[in-house]
Amino acid sequence: MKLLFAAAEIFPYAKTGGLADVAQALPSTLSKEIELFSVMPLYDFIDREKFSLTEMHESFQITLGNNIYDISLFEGMNQGVRTLFVHEAMLCHCITPYGNKNGDYLSNDLRFGIFSKTLVILAQMFEIDLLHLNDWHTALAALWAKEILPELHVVYTIHNLAYQGLFPRESIERLGLREHYFTPEGIEFWGEVNCMKAGIAYSDVVTTVSPTYAKEILSPEFGCGLEGFLQVHASKLHGILNGIDTVLFDPLVDNFLPENYGSKKFKTKKNNKILFCTEQGFEDTDKPLIVFIGRFTEQKGLDVIIEVLPKLLKENLNFVILGEGDEVMADALKAVSQHYDNFSILFGYDESLSHRMYAAADFLLMPSRFEPCGLNQLIALRYGTIPIVTEVGGLRDTIRDIDKRDNSTCGQGIVLHTLSSKALIEAVMRSLQLFSDTKQFSTISKSNMHCNVSFKESAKIYLKLYRQEV
Ligand code: ADP
Repeated sequence: MKLLFAAAEIFPYAKTGGLADVAQALPSTLSKEIELFSVMPLYDFIDREKFSLTEMHESFQITLGNNIYDISLFEGMNQGVRTLFVHEAMLCHCITPYGNKNGDYLSNDLRFGIFSKTLVILAQMFEIDLLHLNDWHTALAALWAKEILPELHVVYTIHNLAYQGLFPRESIERLGLREHYFTPEGIEFWGEVNCMKAGIAYSDVVTTVSPTYAKEILSPEFGCGLEGFLQVHASKLHGILNGIDTVLFDPLVDNFLPENYGSKKFKTKKNNKILFCTEQGFEDTDKPLIVFIGRFTEQKGLDVIIEVLPKLLKENLNFVILGEGDEVMADALKAVSQHYDNFSILFGYDESLSHRMYAAADFLLMPSRFEPCGLNQLIALRYGTIPIVTEVGGLRDTIRDIDKRDNSTCGQGIVLHTLSSKALIEAVMRSLQLFSDTKQFSTISKSNMHCNVSFKESAKIYLKLYRQEV
């Protein structure tokens, strides 16, 4: 079986969130079992020299609507996986994959239309048996595969249903799609074109990134308006938990850390904390350190964190937030930081800093409103940092409350049943209480480090699904 695994971002070439991590870690695990290539766009900001990317001989043209686009191909190797890069001027001329500070690029329908159509041509060219698509950026390939290459098997994974790739009706013409797709059974959604719907409707198998999220998205609360549509296609929907690359995220060998540690050398974790807290200018580096790492959105519950922050910062703790996103939230955080010397706000996206924070922290705060899978809590487990999470999606499938006796999940943490300011304060209070019980705190932190957070088990489930198809 020959597999083509397609995503709009793959670590380390481009990353805005968990999709890039998964698009690196899953193919890397699968490549030990089957022949596969990964494929992504060659955005202008990708350093071709640094990653030793070379141009391939193959180049061709594709047509969308009335326009012809010139495609060239590059290739590179990453962690044993051959990655193809698609270059086309409009697709690749950008400073981040999806937009700038003014919002998403207006040409995203065409940009990812070009990428999606190219995927089907590549499948033909490289005699691919199965095309694995990820999120709306690749979803139109499912529709074109049915037209151009009906024997190709297609798996589509939903990483976050909140981002559906919605465009005005005129996109049908720009993309050269037949009018008959513009129906509620096809890709029409309240008068607009919905790329996510193409992935769901025209793929042979649809997966999402945790068993709980697979159930949740069938309900109005989590279905983002597609719950009815997903119910129609529910028989081909599977929930498969994400994992992380346990080599890239390994505190024993992580080059980003000032001092490496493991569960047997757990005391060394504290040196990372002291160094990091000193860097932040915190007076008392012994206080419990809580961190938040992620996008500034309501999805991540950051609005509730902001609401309770002044109250939390009166407690005996240090708090650091790293991330970027919503400007209003960023301004609110900046304002709070001016009044408290036990709080730091670090703006931007910084891979190395995030690793140092996972290593330094005692607790990772992740009170998401919804969370398809979530990788931060898995990374936290690996670094012996106790997650404080809400009971939704993949968080529910990976973290059980410290007071719960069952063994349904591997990792232990502090679990909020529903997100509210009261529940968030209570959860942080519980974490402070746990921290003061030094023995229990270190037993849980160390035992979390032994959780299996790799892709090994989930890759077996993907393989089984692929083999049932091909
Ligand atoms: P998302 O919904 O953003 O995809 P996930 O939990 O699935 O969230 O994955 C987030 C990934 O991005 C993790 O690897 C996390 O460490 C990383 N990350 C998020 N924000 C930042 C940041 N500001 N700097 C560095 N890494 C970040």
